[in-house]
Amino acid sequence: MTPMSSPLHPSETTNPDQPFLSLITGSFSTPAGGNPTVAMVEAAYRDLGLAARYVNCEVSTSALADAVRGAAAMGWAGFNCSLPHKVAVIEHLDDLSPAARIIGAVNCVVIRHGRLTGENTDGKGFVEALRRAQDPAGASMVVLGAGGAARAIAVESALAGAATVTIVARHLAAASALAHRVAEQTGAATSALPWEPGMPVPAADILVNATSVGMHPDGEAVVDIDLDSLDPATLVADVIANPPRSRLIREAELRGCRTIDGLGMLVAQAVVAIELWTGCTPDPAVMRTELERIFSV
Ligand code: NDP
Repeated sequence: MTPMSSPLHPSETTNPDQPFLSLITGSFSTPAGGNPTVAMVEAAYRDLGLAARYVNCEVSTSALADAVRGAAAMGWAGFNCSLPHKVAVIEHLDDLSPAARIIGAVNCVVIRHGRLTGENTDGKGFVEALRRAQDPAGASMVVLGAGGAARAIAVESALAGAATVTIVARHLAAASALAHRVAEQTGAATSALPWEPGMPVPAADILVNATSVGMHPDGEAVVDIDLDSLDPATLVADVIANPPRSRLIREAELRGCRTIDGLGMLVAQAVVAIELWTGCTPDPAVMRTELERIFSV
């Protein structure tokens, strides 16, 4: 049987003085079992020839503090935080990057000389993936959802020059709070709308699903908007990475829209994280290929 991923050989180390010591990174989340990041990141490490590992850890809310202390004690270079730890981890860190401070959530922690700095690479990853299809500068954007991913996307898109950002969420208070935060921190023009079931899609250059609707195992679910009101000129982006061809992506393409799937954001946010942890720039094509192999895209 062919192994899923061959472990790094010690001869691949970049530090000949410490041939048997790997650089350790990983992820803390729950549930962790369906998160494909480990395969993508280790494919990048192998391609770079780095003696580095990424460990996907199931970490409960009550174990988060110990997990963070453990990573620092073992000399990890850093770790990702995913659901539900992106906000809770902040109280265990020494510092926040400017973006993480504005967004109010951390998905990537860098450990240097025992100091833990919280970063947010989700929004940067989204903007990087978006730029391959369309420059957000000057664009009008509608973001569905007001959770962690929506916050990161709205803030970084506004910092990248989006002209207007409209937040649509089931709880108007959450949408308004995010719209206010983005306007205050970035100077972009923002607005908030309550999510009415079956509502027409507000006119925009870019529509982003930043909710968890359509995520595995509910892969056939789709956001409750009137898809027939989609303008074919609108670029539709989905944060859902599993399944990559979400129903929203398929429905939007059927209506003539250009689309961006969640794999682009997943790869691009990990590229930034790997640069922060290792100082090396990985090849995004290698990472995307590994994800496509896993998902048989
Ligand atoms: P959060 O729990 O912080 O936010 C989820 C958001 O989705 C909330 O605004 C929630 O609204 C909304 N929502 C959930 N169900 C519905 C529904 N039926 N109708 C309308 N809105 C709904 O999660 P995150 O923001 O951290 O993650 C969201 C998704 O983004 C996840 O699927 C995650 O996997 C994905 N993601 C993908 C990344 C990538 O690289 N591709 C990176 C980061 C996240 P309410 O508050 O009303 O419940």
